[in-house]
Formats: sequence, C-alpha cells, structure tokens
Amino acid sequence: METFRITCVVGARPNFMKIGPILREMSGRPRFQPWLVHTGQHYSPEMSDALFSDLGIPKPDVHLGVGPGTQTQQTADIMRALETVFLERPADVVLVVGDVNSTMAASLVAAKLGIRIAHVEAGLRSGDRRMPEEINRLVTDALSDYLFASEPSGRRNLLAEGVPAERIFLVGNVMIDTLLAFRRRAAESGVLDRLQLVPKRYCLVTLHRPSNVDEPDRLRGLVNMLHQLSKKLPIVFPVHPRTRSRIEEAGFDTGGLLLTPPLGYLDFLRLTSDARLVLTDSGGVQEETTILSVPCLTLRENTERPITMEEGTNRLVGIEPEAIFQAALEALNAPMPNRPAPALWDGKASGRILDVLERQLSLS
Ligand code: UDP
Repeated sequence: METFRITCVVGARPNFMKIGPILREMSGRPRFQPWLVHTGQHYSPEMSDALFSDLGIPKPDVHLGVGPGTQTQQTADIMRALETVFLERPADVVLVVGDVNSTMAASLVAAKLGIRIAHVEAGLRSGDRRMPEEINRLVTDALSDYLFASEPSGRRNLLAEGVPAERIFLVGNVMIDTLLAFRRRAAESGVLDRLQLVPKRYCLVTLHRPSNVDEPDRLRGLVNMLHQLSKKLPIVFPVHPRTRSRIEEAGFDTGGLLLTPPLGYLDFLRLTSDARLVLTDSGGVQEETTILSVPCLTLRENTERPITMEEGTNRLVGIEPEAIFQAALEALNAPMPNRPAPALWDGKASGRILDVLERQLSLS
C-alpha cells in the first residue's frame, strides 16, 4: 500500500483548532503518515499547551521554539528553522492551515524545495493588505498545489486570481469540525459558574488585531465603549497576550469589565455558546457564532469571511466606538437569531480534505 508523508505545520492559536480534526482523521487512515511541526510562533507556551490538550492534539514531533519578533524577523526565523526540518524528513506534501506567519513561511520553504503544498482555508480575502494575515493568505495561495476552501467566496477569489479550477476544492470548514466535535464536552465546562455569569445575560468580547489594539487612542475609545455597555449587561473579556500588554502599557482602567486570561478551548466555546452578544475582531469567532446562532458584531471595516454575514449572525460594525455601541444596543433589543448552518459546515470537512488528497496523491 502506497503511503503519504504529510508534514503539518502549525504556529499560533487559530491553527490548532484547524489541524486538530485533520490529524484525528489521519489517525484512522493508515495511508497517511503525519508529522507535526510546531514553530512556536505563539509567544505564550502555557496557552499553546492548554489548547493542545483541550483539543486532543498529539505532542508535536518537532518544536522549533521560534519566539516573537517583527513580522519579517519572525517569518525569516521560521523559514530558516523549517528548511532544516523539511530537508531532514522528506515529505510528499506540506500541509498548512489558516493565515499566520508560520503558514506563509512553511509555504515559501516548501515551494523552494519543490515540495507540494496543501492549504486549508484557502482563498479568504479581506482585500486589506494592511493586515499581516492578508499578505500571508495571498502568498500561501499563490504557492499552493491543493487549495481547500471553507466557503464559496474562497473559491471565487482564487478563480479571480487565476488559480486553475482543478486545484481548488470547496470542502467546508475545519474550525467547525472542531466545534461540532467538542460542543457536548464544552457544555459541561464550569466556566459560567466560575465567572458567576448567567446564560444569555452577558456579552463576550475578544480583541487582538493590531488595527484595534496597537494604537492607544483607539484602544482607549474601545475600552470606554465597553465600560458604557457594561452598564447594560456584564462584559466578559478573555484578553489576548498582545492586548494585555497594550492595556498595561497604557494603564487603562478596566474595572467594571470581567477580564480573564486567554481561556482553554472548551471554556471559550461554552462562553460563546451561552452569550447574548459577542463583540470581536477574530476570524474564527465570526464563524463559531454563525454556527451557534449567537449575534456577533465584528469590530472591523472588512471581513474575509463574508458567508458569516450573508448566511450567519455576523454584522460588520466598523471601528467607531459610538457606532459599535449603538449596534450593540440594537442587537440586544432584537430577538436571538436562528439560522441554518452554511453548506458543508457540517463537521466533515477534514474527511473531505483527506479524500481529495488521497485521490490526488494516488494519481501523481
Ligand atoms: N479561543 C480560545 N480561547 C480564547 C479566545 C479564543 O480558545 O480565549 C479560540 C476560539 O475558538 C477562536 C480561536 O481561538 O475561534 C481563534 O483565535 P483568534 O481569535 O486568536 O484568531 P483568529 O481566528 O482571529 O485568527
């Protein structure tokens, strides 16, 4: 039986929810021989370890321990370290997920070495090249051989950029594979009791995009807006390490808001499922609220995930605090939405990805 050596590369939080279901699926298919490389791009090892254990992801075969740095330094460090790994252990395919620096770095190194690349979550575009993730998406997709799209816009964007149709596969959303696999376990999380929150009577907030948190005046405006909103209902805010440093540097008063460290996946999923409203700038959270039918306001001017607005519960509310506050009041006055899941967001995307890879690799 022909086997396929698949080197999977992950580096930061949003990657873990995407690789988990693919590795699980591979463990039931002996033709696939996965090899997991963690670049260490995420600078909080505790957070990374907790997520790995929550999601049942095996310990990485290699941990590169690349730390923080500027966008370019970090990408270069990851590339240098990955080149050695890829040369030492030849692979048939390098599989990358999402849009972090590790995703792009792995694609560049694989392309230079002539190794085929599979990109999971291909084709998403915000149209905003000021976002580091947009650059990572464009480069990764330009170099990939197998492009797995999570929603129809991904396929359309790739076709418009000239990617041959036979390389594009609309397979659905692996983040949602994870959500559906862990939903029942998340329902048992005691996080609401621990934080003394009542289901559907709190607002969940996540903020970590540089465009929202790196500019002190902007972050001050958002924190003040959250203070206003906390007079209507409790606000729980698991704070990303990046945002935590910015808040501490600027010395903002966050009393009145329920700040927590970044949460494990199961606790976070429970908090999202039972929220009355979510305010976020996260990509993954826009998708998760869509499946959970929880109203979501995205504090950005664009989204690379338009299906969450067209078919889901997401609304883009821009970056002006007053407009965000008004949109939050509107959402709180409206009934809870109830919408069917987008097509192929059914928990089976990872299986479809491996079906395609098996077929394609057998042919080549
Ligand atoms: N998440 C988590 N704990 C938290 C915040 C987020 O487990 O405290 C999960 C959540 O499922 C989210 C995912 O991490 O969808 C992606 O994280 P993030 O928002 O950092 O990245 P993005 O999706 O914006 O790239």
